[in-house]
Amino acid sequence: MMVYIQEKPENSAVVEHEYFGNELAAIAKLESVAWPRHPICPHCKHQGPVYDLSKTRIGLKKCRRCCRQFTVRIGTAVEASHLPLHKWLQAVYLLSAGVKPISAQQLQRTLDITYKSAWLTAKRIRKRTTSPH
Ligand SMILES: [Zn+2]
Repeated sequence: MMVYIQEKPENSAVVEHEYFGNELAAIAKLESVAWPRHPICPHCKHQGPVYDLSKTRIGLKKCRRCCRQFTVRIGTAVEASHLPLHKWLQAVYLLSAGVKPISAQQLQRTLDITYKSAWLTAKRIRKRTTSPH
Protein backbone atom coordinates (compact mmCIF):
# COMPACT_ATOMS: atom_id res chain seq x y z
CA MET A 1 0.00 0.00 0.00
CA MET A 2 1.38 3.37 -0.97
CA VAL A 3 2.10 5.69 1.93
CA TYR A 4 2.96 9.33 1.54
CA ILE A 5 3.55 12.36 3.69
CA GLN A 6 1.85 15.60 2.78
CA GLU A 7 1.49 19.12 4.07
CA LYS A 8 -1.40 19.17 6.47
CA PRO A 9 -3.14 21.36 8.99
CA GLU A 10 -2.46 21.14 12.69
CA ASN A 11 -3.83 18.16 14.57
CA SER A 12 -3.87 16.06 11.46
CA ALA A 13 -2.52 12.51 11.24
CA VAL A 14 1.26 12.24 10.79
CA VAL A 15 1.19 9.63 8.08
CA GLU A 16 -1.54 9.36 5.51
CA HIS A 17 -2.43 6.36 3.46
CA GLU A 18 -3.69 6.73 -0.06
CA TYR A 19 -7.04 5.38 1.04
CA PHE A 20 -7.48 8.27 3.49
CA GLY A 21 -7.90 10.79 0.69
CA ASN A 22 -9.37 8.78 -2.12
CA GLU A 23 -12.78 7.13 -2.05
CA LEU A 24 -11.91 4.58 -4.74
CA ALA A 25 -8.79 3.50 -2.85
CA ALA A 26 -10.79 3.38 0.39
CA ILE A 27 -13.41 1.08 -1.11
CA ALA A 28 -10.68 -1.12 -2.59
CA LYS A 29 -8.96 -1.30 0.80
CA LEU A 30 -12.11 -2.32 2.66
CA GLU A 31 -13.01 -4.83 -0.06
CA SER A 32 -9.56 -6.44 0.15
CA VAL A 33 -9.99 -6.84 3.91
CA ALA A 34 -13.62 -7.99 3.87
CA TRP A 35 -13.40 -10.13 0.73
CA PRO A 36 -9.94 -11.69 0.36
CA ARG A 37 -11.11 -13.82 -2.60
CA HIS A 38 -14.50 -12.95 -4.07
CA PRO A 39 -17.23 -10.53 -3.00
CA ILE A 40 -19.80 -12.05 -0.66
CA CYS A 41 -23.43 -11.07 -1.20
CA PRO A 42 -24.86 -9.84 2.13
CA HIS A 43 -28.37 -10.85 1.01
CA CYS A 44 -27.95 -14.50 0.01
CA LYS A 45 -24.32 -15.12 1.15
CA HIS A 46 -23.33 -16.14 -2.35
CA GLN A 47 -19.58 -15.84 -2.84
CA GLY A 48 -18.17 -15.45 -6.32
CA PRO A 49 -17.95 -13.15 -9.32
CA VAL A 50 -20.49 -10.30 -9.36
CA TYR A 51 -21.79 -7.74 -11.81
CA ASP A 52 -19.79 -4.56 -11.44
CA LEU A 53 -22.04 -1.49 -11.17
CA SER A 54 -19.30 0.91 -10.09
CA LYS A 55 -20.17 3.25 -12.96
CA THR A 56 -23.49 3.82 -11.22
CA ARG A 57 -21.97 4.23 -7.77
CA ILE A 58 -18.45 3.58 -6.48
CA GLY A 59 -18.19 0.05 -5.15
CA LEU A 60 -21.71 -0.95 -6.15
CA LYS A 61 -22.11 -4.61 -7.10
CA LYS A 62 -24.96 -6.87 -8.13
CA CYS A 63 -25.20 -10.49 -7.05
CA ARG A 64 -25.32 -13.02 -9.88
CA ARG A 65 -27.52 -15.33 -7.87
CA CYS A 66 -30.17 -13.19 -6.14
CA CYS A 67 -29.65 -10.14 -8.42
CA ARG A 68 -29.72 -7.72 -5.48
CA GLN A 69 -27.30 -4.82 -5.20
CA PHE A 70 -24.77 -4.27 -2.46
CA THR A 71 -21.52 -2.57 -1.51
CA VAL A 72 -18.80 -3.60 0.91
CA ARG A 73 -20.20 -1.11 3.44
CA ILE A 74 -23.25 -3.30 4.13
CA GLY A 75 -22.95 -5.18 7.40
CA THR A 76 -20.12 -3.03 8.73
CA ALA A 77 -20.09 -0.09 11.14
CA VAL A 78 -19.91 2.29 8.17
CA GLU A 79 -23.21 1.14 6.73
CA ALA A 80 -25.34 3.66 8.63
CA SER A 81 -22.87 6.51 8.26
CA HIS A 82 -23.22 9.24 5.67
CA LEU A 83 -19.48 9.86 5.66
CA PRO A 84 -17.45 8.90 2.62
CA LEU A 85 -15.55 5.72 3.38
CA HIS A 86 -12.10 7.36 3.16
CA LYS A 87 -13.04 9.79 5.92
CA TRP A 88 -14.42 6.94 7.98
CA LEU A 89 -11.17 4.96 7.65
CA GLN A 90 -9.22 8.02 8.68
CA ALA A 91 -11.50 8.49 11.69
CA VAL A 92 -10.96 4.85 12.70
CA TYR A 93 -7.21 5.38 12.39
CA LEU A 94 -7.28 8.59 14.42
CA LEU A 95 -9.43 7.06 17.14
CA SER A 96 -7.79 3.65 17.31
CA ALA A 97 -5.35 2.32 19.86
CA GLY A 98 -1.75 3.39 19.47
CA VAL A 99 -2.70 6.84 18.29
CA LYS A 100 -3.13 9.63 20.80
CA PRO A 101 -6.84 9.92 21.54
CA ILE A 102 -8.44 12.89 19.87
CA SER A 103 -11.60 14.82 20.56
CA ALA A 104 -14.63 15.17 18.32
CA GLN A 105 -13.53 18.80 17.70
CA GLN A 106 -10.15 17.60 16.41
CA LEU A 107 -11.85 14.98 14.29
CA GLN A 108 -14.13 17.65 12.87
CA ARG A 109 -11.18 19.85 11.86
CA THR A 110 -8.98 17.04 10.58
CA LEU A 111 -11.63 15.45 8.39
CA ASP A 112 -13.35 18.72 7.49
CA ILE A 113 -16.77 17.42 8.48
CA THR A 114 -19.52 18.83 10.67
CA TYR A 115 -19.26 18.58 14.43
CA LYS A 116 -22.40 16.45 14.55
CA SER A 117 -20.94 14.06 12.02
CA ALA A 118 -17.62 13.89 13.90
CA TRP A 119 -19.36 13.24 17.19
CA LEU A 120 -21.58 10.51 15.72
CA THR A 121 -18.66 8.88 13.95
CA ALA A 122 -16.52 8.86 17.08
CA LYS A 123 -19.41 7.39 19.04
CA ARG A 124 -19.98 4.63 16.48
CA ILE A 125 -16.30 3.75 16.24
CA ARG A 126 -15.77 3.74 20.02
CA LYS A 127 -18.83 1.58 20.53
CA ARG A 128 -17.50 -0.80 17.91
CA THR A 129 -13.96 -1.02 19.26
CA THR A 130 -14.83 -1.23 22.94
CA SER A 131 -17.69 -3.72 22.68
CA PRO A 132 -17.25 -6.83 24.85
CA HIS A 133 -15.91 -9.97 23.19
ZN1 LIG B 1 -27.08 -12.62 -3.52
